Amino acid sequence: MSFIGQNTLRTKQLNRSLVLQSILRLEKPTRQEIAAFTKLTPATITNIITELIAEKLVVETGSMEGGEKRAGRKTIALDLNEESKRIAGVHIRSDRVEFGIMTLKGKVLQFHSFPLPEQMDQNDFLSLLIKELEQFLATSSNPVSCIGIGSVGLVDFEQGRILEAEHMGWEDVELASAVSSRFHLPVYVDHHVRGMALAEKLFGSCKNESDFLVVYLGQGIGSGMYLKDQLYRSDLTGAGELGHMIYQPEGNPCWCGSRGCLERYASEAALIKKYQLNSIDDFITGCKRNDEKMLQGAKDAGKKIATVLTSFINMLHVNKIMVGGRLADSELPLITALKKQIRELSFLDKKRHVEIEASSMGEQVGVIGAASLALLYAVFNANLNENR
Ligand SMILES: [Zn+2]
Repeated sequence: MSFIGQNTLRTKQLNRSLVLQSILRLEKPTRQEIAAFTKLTPATITNIITELIAEKLVVETGSMEGGEKRAGRKTIALDLNEESKRIAGVHIRSDRVEFGIMTLKGKVLQFHSFPLPEQMDQNDFLSLLIKELEQFLATSSNPVSCIGIGSVGLVDFEQGRILEAEHMGWEDVELASAVSSRFHLPVYVDHHVRGMALAEKLFGSCKNESDFLVVYLGQGIGSGMYLKDQLYRSDLTGAGELGHMIYQPEGNPCWCGSRGCLERYASEAALIKKYQLNSIDDFITGCKRNDEKMLQGAKDAGKKIATVLTSFINMLHVNKIMVGGRLADSELPLITALKKQIRELSFLDKKRHVEIEASSMGEQVGVIGAASLALLYAVFNANLNENR
């Protein structure tokens, strides 16, 4: 979508989406505040808000106290009608799948996960996913209106499919068509960490950032980025494969065919292997019990990630980097070690600091990210995507 003209219908749909996103970002704004923020005329805002109230997506929350209201005129604040729609999020990791049901404001009402076997045929996986999702959605008191899926692997957002998840042995998995034909709902699929970047933009602490990176430390290491206020997707595979940036030339072999990739040294899988543990829970517990070797392992992982992130910062000097996943737990020394190392290594960071934080969404970041894709493309941008 790089060269699309704006006909009247498309402009109208785009403005509608901007207004809905502004209501989330500004938190109970007035019509005037939305007009100032979006640079749309007050008349346009009034028309769009009237339609959104009729659709029950937006509600008036009463008059605001104080402010600059003129004598005799009430100022009405607007809010998303949080309960008006339910959105399903499906987060596909290489070791498990997580499901969540989310409100319009990013609140997760129900959560469920199930493990995946180490190797699973992609058709068996699709059957299992649909069966589990049927059971999960049946537990929701209100039906969902759309489904967002965030997955590991190389994901083609436009086609809604996994191009390749080589470490799982999957190729061309037609996720969107399989799920939408079973549930008869709009389904959007993207790389799971790009979904998380969108979630940080809509609901998290990157609402007001135009350039930021989200790093997810899971079985592997992935990233998603916003550049100039746009969720970045290359036209080829989507990009953001931070885990396969080279940390150690000629180092440990990686399933991607290269050697010395970062995720061979600093992911959950790398730490589980290094300390011969059953799961990452054992590592987290070990750190919290002050196991010195594991604490050192967490610090070393932070430093290794920082080395690769330094190259990223020097290239794309984003304002903020959010780190998600269980290894980003504030009780572990990983994030502190990562920040310290970046301060030492990046000359651009010395010039103007990059904020580095753990994601506030905790373990739900995957399902919130996945559901955010459906929220933006099926609810906020409704019909706009058909023109893409
Ligand atoms: Zn690799």
